[in-house]
Amino acid sequence: MRLGVLGLQGAVREHLRSLAYLGIERSVVKRTSELAGLAGIILPGGESTAISLLAAGSLREELRRLIREGFPFFGTCAGMILLANEVEGQEETNIGGIDITVSRNASGRQVDSFETVLAVKGIGDDVPAVFIRAPYITRLGNGVTALAEHEGAVVMARQGNVLVTSFHPELTSDTRIHRYFVEMVKEYEKKEVAR
Ligand code: GLN
Repeated sequence: MRLGVLGLQGAVREHLRSLAYLGIERSVVKRTSELAGLAGIILPGGESTAISLLAAGSLREELRRLIREGFPFFGTCAGMILLANEVEGQEETNIGGIDITVSRNASGRQVDSFETVLAVKGIGDDVPAVFIRAPYITRLGNGVTALAEHEGAVVMARQGNVLVTSFHPELTSDTRIHRYFVEMVKEYEKKEVAR
């Protein structure tokens, strides 16, 4: 199994390191052709405006097509903003694919970045989480499961093969959330083979 990390801007290396730690084959995706042969893709944190400008054209179209086909996606922070069907104060959907609304920078300014420990459904009640000008989920559509909350706001959710976090699991040495995504990808592969 090989996973891709969208490598246009942001915490790309850190995701690659988490995957390496789990022994997962990985590659950086900068153009459409580099999506071939992947089993799933991670959209990192960074600056969602910058990433969406860089992922214009055919790359965005292909990502949109894949996510609507059920291909596994994991978006962290800015990556979550790109995957949200709706962003507060923004007319257009970026890539979309998970039926949530997000509020950008809801956790405060850069100086308000913080690290905490979260209870994550199906993973544990001691998961370290780094928040950096993080978006919060302000609406969950039908079929979206909240997996973690922080001070009453949903900060991790899943709908089918799409997983999103407000925070940055790749900035800690705890790889359980990446492993959770790898398990999602394996389930998807099994289903694809059975089809
Ligand atoms: N606030 C950033 C944005 O709106 C996301 C921050 C992050 O990814 N750490 O894109």
